Amino acid sequence: MESVLIANRGEIAVRIIRACRELGIRSIAVYSDADADAPHARLADEAWRLGPAPSSESYLRVDRILDVAARSGAAAIHPGYGFLAERAPFARAVTEAGLVFIGPSGTTIDEMGDKTRARTRMQEAGVPIVPGTTEPLSDADEAEEVAASMGYPVLLKAAAGGGGKGMRVAEDPEKIRRSFEAAAREAESAFGDGSIYIEKYLTRPRHIEIQVLGDTHGNVVHLGERECSIQRRHQKLVEEAPSPALDPETRRRMGEAAVTAARAVDYAGAGTIEFLWQDGDFYFLEMNTRIQVEHPVTELITGIDLVEWQLRVARGERLPWSQDEITFEGHAIECRITSENPDEGFLPSTGRIRHLELPGGPGVRWDGGVTAGMEVGLHYDPLLGKLIVWAPTREGAIERMRRALGEFALVGVDTCVTFHSRVMAEEAFRAGDLSIRYLEEHPELTRAPERTDSELRLAAAAAVLLEEERRRELAPPRIGSGSGGRARSDWQRAFSPHGEAR
Ligand code: ADP
Repeated sequence: MESVLIANRGEIAVRIIRACRELGIRSIAVYSDADADAPHARLADEAWRLGPAPSSESYLRVDRILDVAARSGAAAIHPGYGFLAERAPFARAVTEAGLVFIGPSGTTIDEMGDKTRARTRMQEAGVPIVPGTTEPLSDADEAEEVAASMGYPVLLKAAAGGGGKGMRVAEDPEKIRRSFEAAAREAESAFGDGSIYIEKYLTRPRHIEIQVLGDTHGNVVHLGERECSIQRRHQKLVEEAPSPALDPETRRRMGEAAVTAARAVDYAGAGTIEFLWQDGDFYFLEMNTRIQVEHPVTELITGIDLVEWQLRVARGERLPWSQDEITFEGHAIECRITSENPDEGFLPSTGRIRHLELPGGPGVRWDGGVTAGMEVGLHYDPLLGKLIVWAPTREGAIERMRRALGEFALVGVDTCVTFHSRVMAEEAFRAGDLSIRYLEEHPELTRAPERTDSELRLAAAAAVLLEEERRRELAPPRIGSGSGGRARSDWQRAFSPHGEAR
């Protein structure tokens, strides 16, 4: 496997290109018109244009991606996460074109993609699932009957679900019919499949997932857990490893369940078994058949490079470790840095990144996909990059993350950096008291503090200077007029990398 086409963009494309380079593999990037100057397109050995900015005309165009693969002589395709990563027809098309798909087979993706099928499979394999049905419900009458026998509250979920769509809670019998119909309608329009099943709604669970790694010789190991309970509308914001909730015995049992789950579908490559955990019990939620955003926290506590091993497994190598040889050291935390304003309900923010200063020092890692000068639009996911830290203890990792967030300076679009700083200082987080309701339980974390007059004046001055600079950029260049550097240094001075004024 001498060359890999990376069918993705942003931080994950950069991450995969780096792993390819370390293994001596030629990296082939693809990009949309919005990404012609993006870091992933610049960093790869080659970069090929796919089409216009909308992902439906670029990163989701299977025909164009396969065409680039053929013309560039790619031996394999890495899908990253999102976009085409969990689409079985894409995995099949890649294989049929005679290329290696860096991920599981189309059959495995199909099997785990349908939630009722996955639940049946897991139940047969002896992995505990969230109580509920393993068959779609035939109608609202059946939903009512099943809910009555299970007890409220219940969760109605789309069998074809993903991204939190087609999911409705019903707290009591009055709500069940309406919830069933709403979930079915949403599922039909999002996935073209309105099948709905029912699960017991857990009231204060944690989201804890286990990283697994399999090879094509029948070996499967797990690499421990990640705690991903801090979520906003089912989207993860902060992840850490290990979970502050697990004792060694539960960790061992969850790890074994995850390996059983992966073996049940002959899993090869990197995958994640997601569980809900409540009061010491854990339940299979779903399997993600790809690399995950939060994989670095696992890498930092195990010393195993997951993307490197995806590539090695794809070229037929054997995993070199037995389960006992995988050990965990220290604590890692990841904060997802998105172009969203946490104080405005995480409203997406757009604009040009005018200034970017990244943290460094011991135990700090930045997996990013942006540079200064780049335009952040609305075409893609708002993830700009991930700030990840490691320290010997959880307390040490929290302090290190606070320090690193304080060094992070990005001017031009809003980010959620201040939100993360507040989480790192928040008492329940520091005590490890987490659940998927964390944000509801701590509304103060997404509420802007009152600004002082001097902060407001500073923000107003910065806005004026940025606007002046934007106008200067739009104006035709004046011959012999220097660089217009005064305003730039003014606003750079206005934004110390510390404090909240960014
Ligand atoms: P999707 O594939 O649409 O993301 P998941 O099944 O992975 O859906 O669930 C997403 C999130 O929804 C979970 O991380 C959890 O926060 C919540 N959730 C899912 N099932 C339950 C349940 N039975 N009880 C409580 N919360 C749940």
